Amino acid sequence: MPCVCGIGESTESHCLPIIKGEKAAETAEALMRARYSAYALG
Ligand SMILES: [Zn+2]
Repeated sequence: MPCVCGIGESTESHCLPIIKGEKAAETAEALMRARYSAYALG
């Protein structure tokens, strides 16, 4: 299942680490996508 942000292979490897604070967002866009994904995941 692709990441809920639409561009990653999976949420676990793409946005989830950023949402959980395990990985720093590399770009402002990545941070925005992570915030969107957090919202989409509830
Ligand atoms: Zn993502």
